[in-house]
Amino acid sequence: MPFVRASPESYQYICIPYTIELNDSYRHKGLRKRLVEDLRKRGIRDEAVLAAMLAVPRHFFLDKAFEEHAYEDKPFPIGNEQTISQPYTVAYQSSLLAIKAGDKVLEIGTGSGYQAAILAALGARVYTVERQEELYVQTRELLQLLGFRTVHCFFRDGSQGLPAYAPFDKIIVTAGAPVIPEPLKDQLMTGGILVIPVGDQVQKMTRITRISAKEFKEETLDDFRFVPFLKGTARI
Ligand code: SAH
Repeated sequence: MPFVRASPESYQYICIPYTIELNDSYRHKGLRKRLVEDLRKRGIRDEAVLAAMLAVPRHFFLDKAFEEHAYEDKPFPIGNEQTISQPYTVAYQSSLLAIKAGDKVLEIGTGSGYQAAILAALGARVYTVERQEELYVQTRELLQLLGFRTVHCFFRDGSQGLPAYAPFDKIIVTAGAPVIPEPLKDQLMTGGILVIPVGDQVQKMTRITRISAKEFKEETLDDFRFVPFLKGTARI
């Protein structure tokens, strides 16, 4: 994994508007192991996803103020009224995607970059889209610094998907969408999977599989609460 090779002391304070601690200590690793065991108890069975969550230091994606809590199964603020998803949610969505090495994956809602990092650790080539310019800038910088060369960041409204790079093997939306944006279905390969939380206050996790050019299978799964999927972009 790229971040394991890096020398942590050299970049403890980087040019993002908050401070992160890029030191992955034995204590962090121990807390991460416990989190992964908890996820297993909560029903996450995908061993590849659990291994990725064990490997990626979640505290690298959080403000230092929350470092102590990075391995609790909770969402946390990341600025701009957004949150880093709860680990259980990241594990749940990642499992539904059934990532295979080399999959081309579109993520809508880069946020902290943690979900994108998990997808990259699973071997995906990730195209991630964020509508908040400040988050886009700081997360792109962080992922670059951590050496995630297979994650490509874009600043735009994700409701249009990313037509220039379509089609995708998998698409994941990490904000609660009132309806399923048609362009996202259009940008799936045949056999591809779209995982999206659908609803206003509470969202139903929905998995859509493209059966053929015109046919889609839709499965409605558990309830979650995400920050809202918004239209347009927001500049600094
Ligand atoms: N995957 C993120 C979750 C961040 S919260 C993580 O692991 O941290 C959801 C993110 O979706 C927010 O950053 C929000 O700004 C973004 N978002 C909401 N609507 C969007 C849209 N239409 N296009 C792109 N990003 C969007």
